Amino acid sequence: MEEEKVVSKNFIEQIIDKDLQDGTYDHVTTRFPPEPNGYLHIGHAKSILLNYGLSQEYHGKFNMRFDDTNPTKEKTEFVDSIKEDIAWLGADWEDRLYFASNYFQQMYECALFLIRKGKAFVCDLSAEEIREYRGTLTEPGKNSPYRDRSVEENLELFIGMKEGKYEDGSRVLRAKIDMASPNINMRDPVIYRVAHETHHNTGDAWCIYPMYDFAHPIEDAIEHVTHSICTLEFEDHCPLYDWVVRECEFEMPPKQIEFAKLYLKNTVTGKRYIKKLVEQGQVDGWDDPRLVTISGLRRRGYTPESIRKFVELVGVSKSNSVVDPAMLDYCLREDLKLKAPRVMAVLHPVKLVIDNYPEGQTEMLEAANNLENEELGTREVPFSRELWIEQEDFMEEPPKKYFRLYPGNEVRLMNAYFVTCTGIEKDDEGRVSVIHCDYDPATRGGNAPDGRKVKGTIHWVDASTALHAKVRVYNSLVDEEKGVYDEETGEMNLNPDSLEICDAYLEQSLAKAEPYDRFQFVRNGFFCADAKDSLPGAPVFNRIVSLKSSFKLPTA
Ligand code: ATP
Ligand code: MG
Repeated sequence: MEEEKVVSKNFIEQIIDKDLQDGTYDHVTTRFPPEPNGYLHIGHAKSILLNYGLSQEYHGKFNMRFDDTNPTKEKTEFVDSIKEDIAWLGADWEDRLYFASNYFQQMYECALFLIRKGKAFVCDLSAEEIREYRGTLTEPGKNSPYRDRSVEENLELFIGMKEGKYEDGSRVLRAKIDMASPNINMRDPVIYRVAHETHHNTGDAWCIYPMYDFAHPIEDAIEHVTHSICTLEFEDHCPLYDWVVRECEFEMPPKQIEFAKLYLKNTVTGKRYIKKLVEQGQVDGWDDPRLVTISGLRRRGYTPESIRKFVELVGVSKSNSVVDPAMLDYCLREDLKLKAPRVMAVLHPVKLVIDNYPEGQTEMLEAANNLENEELGTREVPFSRELWIEQEDFMEEPPKKYFRLYPGNEVRLMNAYFVTCTGIEKDDEGRVSVIHCDYDPATRGGNAPDGRKVKGTIHWVDASTALHAKVRVYNSLVDEEKGVYDEETGEMNLNPDSLEICDAYLEQSLAKAEPYDRFQFVRNGFFCADAKDSLPGAPVFNRIVSLKSSFKLPTA
């Protein structure tokens, strides 16, 4: 019997389906509304791809909107980086790029409209007093003594606020809703404040700025957004969102839908914390390859495809959960497995000398570029008397089941010959410095004509032609035993060994690697040429992921 594959829709798709069926909306428009106060991270990627994906699925529109209504923290640098990151992820906003600050006039008019309707008032209480009057979760709040000002007085004062007559913090505009509401967000929330600040887009045109809860629904409504998707912490703000679009009398008002944020285990994901690491100089900028900022992931070598696949696997839900970052690594390996050429690189080198190989001779050996994908073809690699191999591929006194090199043992040099270890040299500190071998010329290509087998195959790089390069291997930025945050101090528990820089030897062909070129270094993992630190002819490589996987796809 053939099983039918049922693609179940997530809860957001179910809401959209219903809205389209019952005529609540005749189109679908989503948006991604970042605040330009930092770089985007993997959690934002989830939101971007979710919003963009829905617009594609429903043949709707996707708006890119900077939520830049707060003048203090926002910078043009962040606007540029955000655009670059979203484009790189493949979410195309076409010509639909918007700035919330371009709506300041409309927001101001909405405020005037509410005042005229008797739904907003200017309040002279200090911030402290407003807090005191607000009440608590168990006690209702008290009405402000300014709540019953006349429409005329409110208009005059609010216009005065806009004209710069009042100092920061002296007066605010508040929505007139219900000080006894069980939802604190509905207790006459502040919707406009005075702030004599220069804004990155509007300069000094405004000295009053709208609060997020007032501005955001208006931005959505102006753009005819239908489904305004945000994260769970805004659930309690939803009644206020609905109040704003209703009282401002927008047609076909947008609706807010909340979903769970993406958190990664043992990973610094909050923008606030990433910012702290950058500002304290704990990392090499917002694009440090150890960060899960989109620019950090890109620099490390993750592909947009791998991030899209990851977000798809994580899915959309209503309850917060923590995802194992091993899942992202799995997606990267799946993406690169067939695409990336496989080359040889030695990260922790030790010299191997083949004593019976003619001195001064170099030969070229053929090597497949990807054993699983013949389309990538073959290449020639140089081979001569002196090679580099990995330190861990030799042991003087091997334990049982160690099949690599040790005195007297024969192994295969990948794509080359069988060699047998005949002796070693040590340095002054007793470390193995040279391994001596003899090779069997009849085993060229890696097989013995007499059919004898070897159990170990190791990789190598020809010493006379090798490219000497820095290769960076990353470990978790966080001390995994302690967890990300110290519960007492609130500080992050960082791993002092999150970056290892190897003096590596690579196949000479890698000298030509361009920024973002990705390779599998056999047995060592997937690597990417660093876009910031590589020089022409002298690339620096970042390890994206190792080859070992602890992650298994859950089977249905
Ligand atoms: P952070 O929580 O890291 O400080 P933020 O919410 O302050 O981020 P914004 O620029 O306001 O950052 O967010 C833009 C959009 O991205 C919002 O719709 C927000 O809900 C969403 N978003 C932020 N963090 C996550 C996350 N971890 N998972 C999913 N969506 C997220
Ligand atoms: Mg935010």
